[in-house]
Amino acid sequence: MKNKVVLITGASKGIGRNIAKSLAIEGYTIIANYNNSEKLAMELKEELKKDEIDIEIFKADVSKKEESQRLVNYCLEKYGKIDILVNNAGIAQSKLFTDITYEEFDNIMKTNVYSAFFITQEVARNMINNKSGCIINISSIWGLVGASCEVHYSMTKAAIDGMTKSLAKELGLSNIRVNSVAPGCIQTDMTKNLSEEDWKGILEESALYKKGKPEDITRCVKWLIEDEFTTGQVISPNGGLVI
Ligand code: NAP
Repeated sequence: MKNKVVLITGASKGIGRNIAKSLAIEGYTIIANYNNSEKLAMELKEELKKDEIDIEIFKADVSKKEESQRLVNYCLEKYGKIDILVNNAGIAQSKLFTDITYEEFDNIMKTNVYSAFFITQEVARNMINNKSGCIINISSIWGLVGASCEVHYSMTKAAIDGMTKSLAKELGLSNIRVNSVAPGCIQTDMTKNLSEEDWKGILEESALYKKGKPEDITRCVKWLIEDEFTTGQVISPNGGLVI
């Protein structure tokens, strides 16, 4: 795996961090993007270094096109290629639809959708030249079924799934696979404000009665990296919350 280069956005915490760590341990070359959580990104690098595993960490606000370009340019100048792209960086917000401001809508669109669009555009040019690639977009169950008080968030995730399906059709002949992973409720900072009562409600709706962990998503991402016959799909590890 040493020669496979993986770019993961939003890898300082939660799901992205777990994907980065797990793939690094398997021998992939990792560029782990972060924005605000520099300390956490440094800690991940140091933790892996103890096992003689070296990963790159790279600060870029992927909601900004020029920073996304800087991130991809860095990877391509250093490694000459990106084999696997995981568009994971994202933010969420819980708010009544009628109270969402223009700025909040703009910010969530830029962070969750523009980031994936522009990074993928830059990376796809390289993958097309190489006639090989794997793109994994982290969306959400809420993009599939909609979430009350998260209309803007749900919209961004539905948009990501639309990108997955269209791109899979456009890039298939270049031997590039594009899939979405749509997690259910996963224990990360994004869900830290859920109360025990909230979790109880979620578990009661879930066939497996289990709280999701970042590694539940990582396993699915790893499978999609290895599988060679799956493209354009939205796969949802969600503990049976949405069936
Ligand atoms: P998290 O723990 O809050 O981590 C979010 C990550 O995204 C952080 O590493 C953060 O980096 C990064 N990020 C946010 N804005 C960024 C920006 N502008 N530029 C670069 N990086 C940025 O959340 P998570 O639960 O792991 O979520 C990861 C993905 O899974 C998101 O797309 C989320 O929508 C999706 N998801 C999560 C759940 C869940 O229940 N947790 C469910 C469905 C889908 P910094 O802290 O360094 O800024």
